Amino acid sequence: MTVVVLGGAGYIGSHTVDRLIEKGYDVAVIDNLITGHRAAVNPKARFYQGDIHDRAFLDEVFNKETNVEGVIHFAAFSIVPESMKDPLKYFDNNTGGMITLLKAMRDHNIKRIIFSSTAATYGEPKQIPIKETDPQIPTNPYGESKLCMEKIIHWSDLAYGIKFVALRYFNVAGAKADGSIGEDHHPETHLIPIILQVAAGERTGLKIFGTDYPTKDGTNVRDYVHVVDLADAHILALEYLKAGNDSNAFNLGSSTGFSNKEILEAARKATGKEIPAEDAPRRAGDPSTLIAASDKARKVLGWKPQYDDVEEIIKTAWNWKTSHPKGYNDRGEA
Ligand code: UDP
Repeated sequence: MTVVVLGGAGYIGSHTVDRLIEKGYDVAVIDNLITGHRAAVNPKARFYQGDIHDRAFLDEVFNKETNVEGVIHFAAFSIVPESMKDPLKYFDNNTGGMITLLKAMRDHNIKRIIFSSTAATYGEPKQIPIKETDPQIPTNPYGESKLCMEKIIHWSDLAYGIKFVALRYFNVAGAKADGSIGEDHHPETHLIPIILQVAAGERTGLKIFGTDYPTKDGTNVRDYVHVVDLADAHILALEYLKAGNDSNAFNLGSSTGFSNKEILEAARKATGKEIPAEDAPRRAGDPSTLIAASDKARKVLGWKPQYDDVEEIIKTAWNWKTSHPKGYNDRGEA
């Protein structure tokens, strides 16, 4: 039986492919390599380069991969500020891509999908920590595009019997412990890799977006999970569906919140670098605080995150950064 991973050359996808291979699964990866990296894909996985919108391409893959036990779907754009500027890019790629994929799954009789949803589907939370049953009212097009995906898959489950697990990620960070794969975005927009670029001397300083939020120190509070722990949750979710359980949605977070300033301090400790920073205006679309209630994933999926210390998480990202100063170096950049 084969697991098909869409977006398996991306940051979270490549770590999940790696964990699947380590656990003995047969894996096929689909990625258009727009944001992903061929070198990030474990060489034991079969690789198909192509786009999720391309129905003929998906048919070709699913005609070759005839024994698919489930699909894990990461192939989406995920940058909040970009989605504010270009919402149609997000609805087209994320939501539209999901429709093409589900049609292909329906027609090839593939009945299980695990997919990346997000805490951004909740918007500005009514209560902290956020529970899976809380209202989903996104404050940005990225979150809305993912919420649409959750709704479309729900109706596809009822109509075609495609079972799903929606995993609502909070903030993901870190890298495989041996530093062989990690996070490499162009351009980089996420807090921890940007802080590490400053630590490495590639940027002059960090801009802290917003210092007047109603939080402990005025900066946004987020809940960080290690990427390998996140990857493992996908495998547990697949096994959960294989065991005959019904479709479901789970938060993936640590249940602990760190402010942007606390992350900066933890990164100073993890790297031993000074890391200059300055206050900057708020970034559009950012909710003030996002902390997960993650007991459901622990209880129902048996998820046991191995990393519970944010400094340790940052250390793994720093290990990747210092061993790969230019990332995968496959974009032809100096
Ligand atoms: N952030 C920041 N400076 C940066 C990048 C991010 O202050 O250069 C803040 C951002 O406004 C948010 C937090 O860091 O409060 C996490 O942002 P990120 O883009 O990493 O993840 P998101 O929470 O949007 O998924």
